[in-house]
Formats: sequence, structure tokens, C-alpha cells
Amino acid sequence: MTIAYLGLGSNLGDRVGYVQQALTLLADCPGIGIVEASSLYETEPVGFADQEWFINAAVAIETSLSPVALLTACQEIERRLLRQRDPANRNGPRTLDIDILFYGDLAMASPALTIPHPRVHLRAYALVPMLEVNAELRHPVLGKTIEELHEALDFPEEVLLYGTRR
Ligand code: ADP
Ligand code: MG
Repeated sequence: MTIAYLGLGSNLGDRVGYVQQALTLLADCPGIGIVEASSLYETEPVGFADQEWFINAAVAIETSLSPVALLTACQEIERRLLRQRDPANRNGPRTLDIDILFYGDLAMASPALTIPHPRVHLRAYALVPMLEVNAELRHPVLGKTIEELHEALDFPEEVLLYGTRR
């Protein structure tokens, strides 16, 4: 069994509902057990700013799946929830994104899968929910904890506890 951390994000449709459904589907997945889920956060889009803010969360899981099998399971859940997208808006914002942020202290890079996630240390939308789940977790490549990585962000995008945005 390995402890892994997933980042969930949605910025289309019933954003909160998609993230909650993803947690339910993950919990139902053979080989995956939920250890702890963060609160929901509302986060400013990065890059292409002209889109809805995201709902983000981080979840700690216990898994017997290999990294690749875990990615496949996450993509299957994305597909199930993406099916509810408007077919006329296929390239629009995403109903659900699941990223593998960490998988134990594994470090790997292949075209299909890089762990830790290549942008986890740069993004407040990933680090702030992770602070709640395991602030002491050490990035296996950078050697810094989630708390240290969060403090080192230069220009963090805005991340609010869900329900506090005005
Ligand atoms: P985004 O980068 O916005 O999350 P996608 O969710 O469409 O974009 O992911 C694109 C590809 O990233 C996936 O098909 C997957 O193969 C790859 N990928 C590489 N590393 C990871 C990871 N750690 N977690 C999830 N996907 C990953
Ligand atoms: Mg993704």
C-alpha cells in the first residue's frame, strides 16, 4: 500500500458537484481508499484567465495500484464525469481534472506520467489544499516540505476557502 496525493479541479458546470462526485468515485474504486480530503477551495484561473474560477481540493489516498494504473483509474473517472459536458463545447473548460501530485516518495518522468506532478510546487491551488492534508510532506525531488514550497511562492494566484469569495 502506498499513500498518494491527488489534486482535483473543476471549473465548468456544477463545479462543487463534480469534485464531490470524483471523491465518491475514487472511494468506490478497487485498490483505492480515501485517507483524508481537504476542504474545497475556490481558485483564480492560471494562464488563460478568461474562464470561471476553479474549485480545487487535495485528497490523500491509500492505494495498491501502480502509478500507471492509478492514472488510468483517475482518467476513467474524468471520462465518466466529462460525459456530462456539452458536446458543442468540447474544448472549453474542464468539468474535472485529476492530477497525481505525489505517489509515496516516488520520482519518475515518462511522457505519460511525471511524479511528483511537474507544477505542484508552483501552484497555490495545489499547495494550499495540500497544506491542510499534509503540510509536512516532503517533495522527493526538491527536498522541501509542502509548507516550505508554499512559503516560497513568488506570485501565488488567489486561493479562497470555498464560500468566502465575494
Ligand atoms: P493538465 O496538465 O491541465 O492536468 P490534462 O489533465 O489533460 O492536463 O493532462 C494531460 C496529460 O498529462 C495526461 O494525459 C497525462 O498522461 C499527463 N500527466 C503527466 N503527469 C501526470 C500526473 N502526475 N498526473 C496526471 N496526469 C499526468
Ligand atoms: Mg490533469
